[in-house]
Amino acid sequence: MIKFLDLQKINIAHQQEIEEKLLEVFRSGWYLLGSEVKNFESNLANYIGSPNAIGVANGLDALRLIFKAYLELGQLKVGDEVIVPANTYIASILAITDNRLKPVFAEPEIGNYNLDISKLEALITSKTKAIMVVHLYGQICWSKDLEALAKKYNLKIIEDNAQSIGAEWNGIRSGNLGDAAGFSFYPGKNLGALGDGGAVTCKDALLAKTIRTLANYGSEEKYINKYQGLNSRLDEIQGAVLAVKLKYIDADNDKRRQIAEKYSSEITNPKIILPKFPEQSENHVWHLFVIRTEKRDELQKYLLENGVQTLIHYPIPPHKQKAYKYYNHLNFPITEEIHREVLSLPISPVMDEYDITAIVKAINSL
Ligand SMILES: *Cc1c(COP(=O)(O)O)cnc(C)c1O
Repeated sequence: MIKFLDLQKINIAHQQEIEEKLLEVFRSGWYLLGSEVKNFESNLANYIGSPNAIGVANGLDALRLIFKAYLELGQLKVGDEVIVPANTYIASILAITDNRLKPVFAEPEIGNYNLDISKLEALITSKTKAIMVVHLYGQICWSKDLEALAKKYNLKIIEDNAQSIGAEWNGIRSGNLGDAAGFSFYPGKNLGALGDGGAVTCKDALLAKTIRTLANYGSEEKYINKYQGLNSRLDEIQGAVLAVKLKYIDADNDKRRQIAEKYSSEITNPKIILPKFPEQSENHVWHLFVIRTEKRDELQKYLLENGVQTLIHYPIPPHKQKAYKYYNHLNFPITEEIHREVLSLPISPVMDEYDITAIVKAINSL
């Protein structure tokens, strides 16, 4: 069986370095708010090119904290509208609604699954204050038109960078394109921790300080609470592990690109719609390799019978979830078609040629 993702193999690739750090942190007796996370934050900021990076507990919190900080700073207020893609992982939407802001769903482009930027202006009202872009599946969602639109209507741009660490647009890394960005270090992400982890990068120092305070019970000074904060800290063990793995992210992303190219040139089954390649290869870090077919469920079953595990990202869009009953009546045909037809093939830096060849062969033989 070819697993969708072999996390053991991914982490064992750096076994010695990771185990040394784990032992060091264990023996140090210092587990939170210490030098390991500080070091990782500074390396991450450096890598992204952002002046600020704040480690937090997970990717959802990273996004929640960005909005919460804007609310505390009076730069957003309850009820403001945030434009967000209708086809995204539910965390993007939860971060908005959790802060009593209103998500305004936008349709993606069927060709690359990312927001259709040309459709955004029609969604802007006097209450629109922000756009959340999601660099879905690892591909940058950005353009000059998007920048111009944000400027014209004075909108903040928040990046959901959970899937796209290392991707670049015109020499700028995702996470440093908009005003603020949320990262996830969920174990299966391109940069994965040994448990939950996340981070925020942002340009404004005051926003960064507010997020750091909010993530630590709203406190800058022990037992003095400035805000009604939360407890959302990256711990020292995860910080140490992430600092090791960050060194290899570019090499890992290159491996993913090679696999994506091999899939694209060798999958020839006419019933399969392959993902479009971006004009610049650095626009995409291939967190997922997502194909499309009308016979998606059949293909998934056939591949499983032939020893290939696949996943669906995602089977139900947020606006059709029970959690959002009051949005269930909305219809987004492109989003819904994507959810009916997509299938994610295995892709990771530790897959070998034999696996890829076997997967290609299975797909072409259907
Ligand atoms: C993984 C993910 C998140 C949330 O990250 P967690 O660390 O799991 O909380 C948010 N948005 C997108 C697009 C994701 O893929």
